[in-house]
Amino acid sequence: MIDLRSDTVTKPSKGMLDAMMSAPVGDDVFGEDPTVNKLQDYAAELFGKQAAIFCASGTQTNQIAINLHVQPGGEVICHYESHVFKYEGGGIAKNSGASTRTVGGSRGRIHVAELEPWMNPPNDVHYPLTQLVSIEDTSNRGGGAIYDFDEIKNIRTFCNSKGLPLHLDGARVCNALVENNIDMQEYGSQFDSISVCLSKGLGAPVGSLLLGDIDFIERARRVRKVFGGGMRQAGYIAAAGLYALEHNIQRLKKDHDHAKRIEAQLHKMEWVEDVLPVETNIVVCILKDHGRVQEFVSKFEHNGILIMPFGKGMLRMVTHLDISESDTNKLCEAIATM
Ligand SMILES: *Cc1c(COP(=O)(O)O)cnc(C)c1O
Repeated sequence: MIDLRSDTVTKPSKGMLDAMMSAPVGDDVFGEDPTVNKLQDYAAELFGKQAAIFCASGTQTNQIAINLHVQPGGEVICHYESHVFKYEGGGIAKNSGASTRTVGGSRGRIHVAELEPWMNPPNDVHYPLTQLVSIEDTSNRGGGAIYDFDEIKNIRTFCNSKGLPLHLDGARVCNALVENNIDMQEYGSQFDSISVCLSKGLGAPVGSLLLGDIDFIERARRVRKVFGGGMRQAGYIAAAGLYALEHNIQRLKKDHDHAKRIEAQLHKMEWVEDVLPVETNIVVCILKDHGRVQEFVSKFEHNGILIMPFGKGMLRMVTHLDISESDTNKLCEAIATM
């Protein structure tokens, strides 16, 4: 089966497995796992942040960050299609007692002009206190769309003018940075906190990192424990994450090339109404007949290809490091026959 449902489906390579098997480990709740510490230091340096903490998932890193940035009764501004709002089980309300002000913007990205109208007046007791802006780069629901770096800088400037922290849900941030050749440290300096998934296109089996300054990450360590996320000999899985950061960042470009070939093939098909312009590793295809999503998911499956229904009239295909050139050829050939 060629599995394009998500970039989370990758299995560790031989090199990654070897790194895992030979990792030195210790009790990470005591801060004594050398491999976890190495991964955290490596990632912090990569993005030019002071510190990092290794967590179980991207939901956990996002939720810890939000919990630290807001107080109960406060408000988070995020896009209405963002993962933190839509796909984390209501965690902002449940874990942090905060409300969300969702805003629009093309393909999952907030335009800085969308922010000003939703700044609640801090001296009027009717309103929740606006306490955080959270953005997602690349945007999943936006079909892997990348933020214009100037837009991010404008959002940062705006947040500074309001005294607001800025969080990045960077589940696929490396896809964005590699594709647009952006300096990782300059990029990192725009955010108070950054969540990075190791288990997406980077190919590790488990884990995400939360990055920030030393004080923030120390406080994150407490929240992670309270959320039940303190791990012991986590070095075995941290080794996979370290291997992923050391070996699998630049190769993300290949996934983008494969996705662009799939896009081109889909455009040739009469049953396709449109494809969201492919920028990274996510292909979102809109069918002419919106009622045929399940039918096409089954058609692909009969051809040995797994894809994801993605809402009304839409199919999602995600490329990743277990999708080879020849898989991409096979996929394009299969699409051509449908
Ligand atoms: C996958 C993903 C996450 C985190 O998901 P987990 O499954 O909890 O690791 C967060 N944000 C975005 C945009 C994602 O795609």
